[in-house]
Amino acid sequence: MSKYTVLTTDIAVLGSGGAGLLAVLHAKKANPELEVVLVSKGAVGRSGCTRMVQGGFNAVLSEDDSLEKHYIDTLKGGKFLNNQELAWTLVEDAPKVIRELEVEYGAFFDRTEDGRIKQKAFAGQSFDRTVHKGDLTGIEIMSRLREQMFRVKPQELEDVRALDLILSPNGEVAGITCLDVRKGTLIFLRAKVVIVATGGSATMYRIAAPAREKTGDGVAMCIRAGLEVRDMEMLQFHPTGLLAGESRMTGAVLEEGLRGAGAYLVNALGERYMKRYDPVKMERATRDVVARASYMEIMAGRGTPQGGVFIDISHLGEAEVLRRFPGMVARTRLIGGDLATRPVEVSPTSHYAMGGVIIDKDCFTSVPGLLVAGEDAGGAHGANRLGGNGVAESTVYGCRAGRTAAAEVAKRDFLPFNEEDVQASIRKTEIPLKSGPGFTPFDLTRQLKDSMWENCGVVRSAEGLNRAQSDIAALNEELKKVRISSSREFNVGWNEYLDLENQLTVAESMIDSAIIRTETRGSHTRSDFPESDHANWLRYIVYKKVGSGKSEISLRDVQFTRVKPEFDEGSES
Ligand SMILES: Cc1cc2nc3c(=O)[nH]c(=O)nc-3n(C[C@H](O)[C@H](O)[C@H](O)COP(=O)(O)OP(=O)(O)OC[C@H]3O[C@@H](n4cnc5c(N)ncnc54)[C@H](O)[C@@H]3O)c2cc1C
Repeated sequence: MSKYTVLTTDIAVLGSGGAGLLAVLHAKKANPELEVVLVSKGAVGRSGCTRMVQGGFNAVLSEDDSLEKHYIDTLKGGKFLNNQELAWTLVEDAPKVIRELEVEYGAFFDRTEDGRIKQKAFAGQSFDRTVHKGDLTGIEIMSRLREQMFRVKPQELEDVRALDLILSPNGEVAGITCLDVRKGTLIFLRAKVVIVATGGSATMYRIAAPAREKTGDGVAMCIRAGLEVRDMEMLQFHPTGLLAGESRMTGAVLEEGLRGAGAYLVNALGERYMKRYDPVKMERATRDVVARASYMEIMAGRGTPQGGVFIDISHLGEAEVLRRFPGMVARTRLIGGDLATRPVEVSPTSHYAMGGVIIDKDCFTSVPGLLVAGEDAGGAHGANRLGGNGVAESTVYGCRAGRTAAAEVAKRDFLPFNEEDVQASIRKTEIPLKSGPGFTPFDLTRQLKDSMWENCGVVRSAEGLNRAQSDIAALNEELKKVRISSSREFNVGWNEYLDLENQLTVAESMIDSAIIRTETRGSHTRSDFPESDHANWLRYIVYKKVGSGKSEISLRDVQFTRVKPEFDEGSES
């Protein structure tokens, strides 16, 4: 029997991004006496992607805008695959969150000359509604939320990674197992309510933008616990990720506001190629359209030798570019480019997972006591997320999860659990800590990323997806033979192994779902099914593990509870 420490709390929040920290704040606001433990794999408030938000946050603040307009933009962007109630809640609550961030926590967003919050254009939107702080909005939001943690004082378990959900014999939440990364020790955290907010995963690709600690842990632990996930085939590629060879800067995003401000995309022949793909919206078309267009140019041999295209905003003048996009200019100068004065090489980069755990608008899942919020949840964005709706979602649903959790604690108690489930989670975690010949997790991760990029990437086909499926099966076998040093403290190889296990679980659900969707919709492009099939595919794909490694897929009709689908004539998907 392996040893572990037992901790107890009313509410366990997993993840300290926008969703996690607002969940803590709202739970404490509802009842300051509640015990809240915040488990964070990375530094509290400084890990995850909310801090990386550049462009901004969509919210209806102007009298000339309306919730209905924002809502329709969101549904059209999502190609009507969205859960309409989740999308409406996002739109309806977003202005309240902006006010809360400014008035209660002291966030300060850019202003117009007469003192109102300044909002800018983002692709796919019928109104300029993106609230921002320069081009580094996430740092402002997360810094203010981090300060609030010193006021409400949850117990912070930093550099602690959640491993597995432990359910009671009747299938409700009993707690979670965790690994203290600094010490290498194991914890069983018993909780009346668990909020999963680990930020999803889009990192299992060769070129990827998100924070590296986001490896699908929350979604994978939910899949292992038998929860249903939806839309897993919907992975957004941002059109403008930097290309910088083997550097970790490869994949880092140049924000969407650049295209909103008039940046051109040009291929290696100097052509503004968007005229071939969307002559009306050009560079301001939605991300899926632009990423696909760039990919097609590169595949057609009109890309750069490094496999990219160029973004060029230098026609606005150096001073203006520097004034409006100082963070982006600094980023390109770091790798020897200069956005302010010349074109910069970019490629589509894996950016955001629209798919995730099925929730309702109060963040309830099918497991009593288990709530999910932020990028770990699926449904709000449908087939494609609009820029600016990601941080809106994570903060709106973080607030809701916190309030729901506080109300649930009053109705729940600590539940019994099966000791063998805790032991099984620990045994599984410790598998690679053995000497002897075997694979290193780093090599396997590289193989996973290459396969996902080539076979389940911007443009997919049955042939490629089948190849990806067999690659994942082989990697799952090789995972069992990974061997790493048995030192427990800050063991990087051990963490890579645990990341890989989760990434493989999530990747499998993505590939299986992508094979099933025999059409092109939003971010899911099939070269063998290039058209959208509205007659048959206004349905979402639900993936679930059913035991002994087997999975089950079902198709469900989208419920058009508020708006019937309407596609622009000539719309590609
Ligand atoms: C470069 C970039 C730019 C972006 N710009 C924008 C933008 O301009 N506008 C917009 O709307 N959206 C943007 N997004 C998307 C946006 O960042 C996300 O939608 C949103 O912030 C996700 O919030 P979250 O709270 O769900 O997760 P995150 O903020 O990503 O937080 C996840 C947290 O979970 C923790 N964690 C992970 N695994 C575990 C584990 N096993 N146990 C415990 N903790 C764990 C991490 O350490 C982290 O604290 C951008 C994303 C990227 C990558």
